[in-house]
Amino acid sequence: MNFSKILGLVIFITSQTHAQSLVILGTLQDGGSPHMGCNKICCSVSKPNDFVSSIGIYDDSMSIIIDATPDFEQQARFLINKSENANLSIFLTHAHIGHYTGLMLLGREVASTKNTPVYAMPRMKKFIETNGPWSQLVSLKNIHLNELSNETPIKISSSLKINPVQVPHRDEYSETVGYEIYGDNKSALYIPDIDKWELWNHKILDMIRKHNYVFIDGTFFGDGEIPRPMSEVPHPFIEESVKLFSTLPFKQKQKIHFIHLNHSNPVRNENYPKRIEMEEMGFRFAKFGEEFKL
Ligand SMILES: [Zn+2]
Ligand SMILES: [Zn+2]
Ligand SMILES: [Zn+2]
Repeated sequence: MNFSKILGLVIFITSQTHAQSLVILGTLQDGGSPHMGCNKICCSVSKPNDFVSSIGIYDDSMSIIIDATPDFEQQARFLINKSENANLSIFLTHAHIGHYTGLMLLGREVASTKNTPVYAMPRMKKFIETNGPWSQLVSLKNIHLNELSNETPIKISSSLKINPVQVPHRDEYSETVGYEIYGDNKSALYIPDIDKWELWNHKILDMIRKHNYVFIDGTFFGDGEIPRPMSEVPHPFIEESVKLFSTLPFKQKQKIHFIHLNHSNPVRNENYPKRIEMEEMGFRFAKFGEEFKL
């Protein structure tokens, strides 16, 4: 091997320092924790990195963040430090406050970014374009909006595809999507919010079988968890999901990571006996900073 070949190999090896990975950037429901107005034990201690639900995807050439949460600054910083690539793109799921309000930090008052790519479904895109202060991000070109279409994958690179999949949710201002993420070798499903599994036009059991990693709505553990009618804020209770997934073999259950946990959710406590029982069955809980190779 001549010198230039060796040099080429060295450059190739050192340039591949970050294999494509998915990283958990936040695990909580929109309101986070400590949660406004909550004086209970669940919010009496704030834990480090207790951020609102979000995931990142990165390698040497890109950083992608799904959702811009109220904790966006710390999450974006963590992701960019990992990938060492400051070219951040954002994919939005929907217009509930935990999922897009972090965009405000891109505006003139703060980062004043130039054409940060933001991917959104048609109603979500229109919501940003036609309502202040978000519309100012568009007029000042802090962000550049790219319209997504349901179940039409976007090719980010030769080794990464992202597919928005619409889900039933309280769609007051926008439609709601989850994302399928396809890397070179593995794929993931991310659905932080959905009303109930049975209202979806996809079968969640099939989706679990299809993907290597599954990060799904675990907002509430069970009925009666918060002191107001829970039908106002429908989510699949973890208890319901566990029942629905009970027929899956252990290996399939191990793909499932519950995410988007409400401050009140007892599984936030690692010593909660029912959480330990679930872990023995194979189920997992998303953890800040945990990484998954794609
Ligand atoms: Zn949410
Ligand atoms: Zn609380
Ligand atoms: Zn929502």
